[in-house]
Order: sequence, then C-alpha cells, then structure tokens
Amino acid sequence: SPALLAYCRAGFEPEIAAELTERAGAAGFAGYARTERGSGFARYMCDDAEALSHALPFRDLIFARQKLVAFAELPTLGAQPGAKPDRVGAIIDAMAATLGNPTLRFGEVHVEHADSDEGRPLAGLSRALGNALRPVLREAGWLTHIDSPARPRLHVMLETGDHAHLAIADPSDSSPFPMGIPRLRANPQAPSRSALKLEEAFLTLLDADERTAWLNDNYVAADLGAAPGGWSWVLMRHGLRVTSVDNGPMAQHLLDSGRVEHLRADGFVWHPKRMLDWMVCDMVEQPRRVAERMATWLREGWCRHTVFNLKLPMKKRWDETMHCLSLFEEQVEKPVVWRAKQLYHDREEITVFAHTRSP
Ligand code: SAM
Repeated sequence: SPALLAYCRAGFEPEIAAELTERAGAAGFAGYARTERGSGFARYMCDDAEALSHALPFRDLIFARQKLVAFAELPTLGAQPGAKPDRVGAIIDAMAATLGNPTLRFGEVHVEHADSDEGRPLAGLSRALGNALRPVLREAGWLTHIDSPARPRLHVMLETGDHAHLAIADPSDSSPFPMGIPRLRANPQAPSRSALKLEEAFLTLLDADERTAWLNDNYVAADLGAAPGGWSWVLMRHGLRVTSVDNGPMAQHLLDSGRVEHLRADGFVWHPKRMLDWMVCDMVEQPRRVAERMATWLREGWCRHTVFNLKLPMKKRWDETMHCLSLFEEQVEKPVVWRAKQLYHDREEITVFAHTRSP
C-alpha cells in the first residue's frame, strides 16, 4: 500500500497527520492519514504517493523531520515460528515484488528506526541490519558500489524488530540525515544548550549558498530574549556583531569578546534605529504575540532576516501554528518568504525563518 511517510517528534503525530491531511486535500489528493500516538511517524495513504510527494515539498512541511515515499510494509519481516528471522531476505524479496528487476537506482541506504520509546531500543538492530543488507543490495544490483548521494535513497524503517517499512527518498527533497536528525554536538563554550537550536535552524532552514551570503562577517544582529547567550554566541561565531536584549544576565565571555552588547530592555518594546541584517528571538511568550512582533520588525524594516521560535500551546497545536503563521504573513504587509520547522532541538515549539524580498 503506497503512502507518504513522514517522521516527526514523538507526541506530534496529530500535528503531522493534520498537516498532511490539510495539504494533501488542498493539492487535490484523496487519501487518509494513519498514525499512532507516540510512534514518531505518520503515513498518508494515497494511491499516487509519488505525485503527492512532489506536491508537498519537504521544505514546506512544518512537523516533518523526514519525508519518504513508502512502497512496501513488512509486518513480520522474515520472522518464522521456530526459525531465525531472515530480515535481509525478506527485504530483498519485497523489493523485487514491488519494484521489479533490480536496477542500480539507489545510491545509499538508511536503515533506521522511529525516534520513539518503542523505536529507540532498535538502534543496534538497525545498525546490524544495515551492515548485513548493504553488501546484499550491491550484489543483487540495487545499490551503487560507491555511495552516490545524488541518487534516490532506500530507507528501511523499523517500527519494531519484526515490522519494517520500505521507502524511497528523493535526495533533493528530503533530509540528508539518518532519521531526519542532524547530529550536532554541544560546544562547551556555548552559554546554553539553546545554541543548538539556532545552529540547527541555520543548517536546516537555509541552504549552503544562503548561509554563505547571509551569515556574513560584517553583519549586525539583535537577539531578543538573549540570556544567557546561546543564540548570541552562535551569531558571534558566524562573525556577526550582536545586541543582546534581555533583563537577565549574559555569559561574561560573550561581553568580553567585544562583539556582543547587552541591553537590559523589554524585547517587545525595543527596536533599532536603522535596519539590521538579522533579528533572532527566543522569548518565551504567547506565540501570537511573538508572531505579531516579528511581523512588525519586518514591516517597519528593522531587520532583513529573522529566525524566531513560536512556543506551542498544549492543545490545538496545528490550529495555533496555522493561525500564528497567517497572522504573521498578513501583518508583514509586504512580500515575505518564510519557512517553518519543528527542529530536532525544538520541544514544544517550532522555528521560523523569514526575510523580506529586496525591493
Ligand atoms: N536563546 C537563549 C539562549 O540561547 O541562551 C535562551 C532564551 S530563554 C529560552 C528566554 C529568555 O527570554 C529569558 O532569558 C527571558 O528573560 C527572556 N524574555 C522573556 N520575555 C522577555 C521580554 N519581554 N523582553 C526581553 N527578554 C525576555
């Protein structure tokens, strides 16, 4: 049964299901979402999952960490009563049954598990299965001998030890990271773990050319709700000079660097006198209030680019997300490009990147 398969943060299955349902409907695709609470993934069952996947670019999906086209489900994965399961054999058979004769179509294979309580203990099995499967796929003529990241990628996603989903990723329209999770290491110099959020935002929401063009040595930024300074530190490391706005204290080594200035002020009131290159905002506040303030910054021309967080409420999180983003777009009152994602390092929140188009 073909399906669009999306990974998400465990607990956010209703949000990704709502997102897929709404977007598939808007794009004119009939189907239905299937998911289980806490599973870390959802499927949108649809006869033409490949066409649906084209209609729903990965970059536009807010709650998806990964987006794949599933082509086979193996609910027993080679398990036989009384015998050792032949998982590799079951996968090879299922591929031949659904995809036909082997062609060298895959450039890489990710064997992974859902990022859920049930899935996480399968890390060792995933690794072992990947090691066993790779040479067999090469031998059978499915997988190139040298990793070719530009070719379609084969995904084997273990839901449990004997329940797998086989899927295909378009490398230009999916996350390159196993399980859709960029492995970022916390730097001991960073004043807080929140630094990882902004690093992941730059890595995920901007492409390489945009990072080079927009995170420039001579640029100036404001950081609203900056204390103790994780985000300011990330900006500083990219060479920017930062005005950090917060009534709380900032890590001293940032102030000593000479690139960070601390302003004890209200982040909802303060604004710069001339246009800054960046404004980032991690203030813990009602998302509607943040969305409106961010729109004001772009409308008034106080910054060119922005990354901000929207903390989601406990209930009706999809509705609130849509409401905040449309409020934001409406109130900017000029052409604005925005991308939103729930990042791996985001908990009950999403991260938005936006910029106004140059006149
Ligand atoms: N991004 C920071 C980092 O990487 O270290 C962490 C920010 S913390 C999640 C939220 C901060 O927002 C707190 O330090 C709080 O003082 C600040 N904050 C909340 N409301 C604010 C306001 N109205 N004006 C300025 N700062 C505010």
